[in-house]
Amino acid sequence: SSELMKGKRGLIMGLANDKSIAWGIAKACADAGAELAYSYQGDALLKRVGPLAAQTGSDIVLPCDVSDEASIDALFDELEKRWGKLDFVVHAIGFSDKNELRGRYVDTSRQNFLTSMDISVYSFTAVVQRAEKMMNEGGSCLTLSYYGAERVMPHYNVMGLCKAALEASVRYLAEDLGKDGIRVNAISAGPIKTLAASGIGDFRYILKWNEYNSPLRRTVTIEDVGKSALYLLSDLGSGTTGEVLHVDAGYHVVGMKAVDAPDI
Ligand code: NAD
Repeated sequence: SSELMKGKRGLIMGLANDKSIAWGIAKACADAGAELAYSYQGDALLKRVGPLAAQTGSDIVLPCDVSDEASIDALFDELEKRWGKLDFVVHAIGFSDKNELRGRYVDTSRQNFLTSMDISVYSFTAVVQRAEKMMNEGGSCLTLSYYGAERVMPHYNVMGLCKAALEASVRYLAEDLGKDGIRVNAISAGPIKTLAASGIGDFRYILKWNEYNSPLRRTVTIEDVGKSALYLLSDLGSGTTGEVLHVDAGYHVVGMKAVDAPDI
């Protein structure tokens, strides 16, 4: 543990269980001395999120469904009452109908396209809108993306378009809020076995592929993502905004992996 985040207050959105990327980030922030609040979606998750929050010394655990404007307002109203100010926010939320996270992108329905874009893309802008008002001394906003934004990945389909739009929104938000000292960044994480990821077709194969083909010859953990998030959320990242930081064991730089003993 360190003093890096001492005196900083942050909201963690998207914690479902101890496999969540949000958990890796929350632990890293708490270990560095941050004070945390959590939002969760749906009553069923409260029994998981409550105890995890307590492990990081937090008793601020509030409901928020990001598809509902009133629900986002209620979350930030409550946070305003408890804290007054906010230093950082982590948006680790995504959603698409899992029936469309397999097969062909071309078969995407209009309804799922709109729902996926609403929850996985617009919600970050909606959250930043509210967070901005509480970040009077500057701040840092972070969302999570994936390489499917840049290249075609099997089964990622409409989520690839969502992540591309999310990454573009990071750049526009960074420009809008930069003059107030608020930074906006994304981490493009390599594949990690979480609840959301288990909805993606052939996910085990995707994990193996990354393990064999990434420069570090492994997949990443939520602890890897947590440490990089700490850089972007703390003063260590003071000069970085509008950035999409790859935390993927280097997978995104590989065009083709060398064969150890080529025989052609
Ligand atoms: P997760 O299932 O642990 O977290 C997803 C969270 O989204 C859940 O807590 C869920 O409650 C929340 N959510 C969904 N709809 C919501 C709504 N309407 N309102 C509020 N919350 C809602 O899975 P995760 O993999 O930790 O996902 C976190 C983020 O990381 C997502 O944006 C995901 O796309 C991204 N990501 C994941 C991977 C991976 O391989 N796991 C890789 C790169 C990026």
